[in-house]
Amino acid sequence: MNIWAYGELVGAMEAKAREYGISVYEVLERGTSSHCAYHEVEVRRGPRGVVTCPVGGHELHSDLNGALNILRRGSGVLVEGNLKLLSFIVDHSGVAPTNSIASKKGGNAQKPGTYPT
Ligand SMILES: [Zn+2]
Repeated sequence: MNIWAYGELVGAMEAKAREYGISVYEVLERGTSSHCAYHEVEVRRGPRGVVTCPVGGHELHSDLNGALNILRRGSGVLVEGNLKLLSFIVDHSGVAPTNSIASKKGGNAQKPGTYPT
């Protein structure tokens, strides 16, 4: 994607977000996966994408850690508490967490779109 196409994409996302009253902040992603969102120290990615913080000793999935860093950089907010990464599946009905399909609809997470009648 060239710089003009990127600018058009960002502009289109900003315009659509404004329609719904959503604020947009552009955040540089550099270092968001390699630094702890809570302690801002360097972390290393281990097996299955888990990062371990050398300061706090806590573990986070690298995608969640990166998302928390982007949120903090953009809004200044750092989410505290028990965070749980959900798994999502895609089927003809859209995208949904596997937990919601299995528990709320009584569906089969292994066979998306299959629900008891
Ligand atoms: Zn940490």
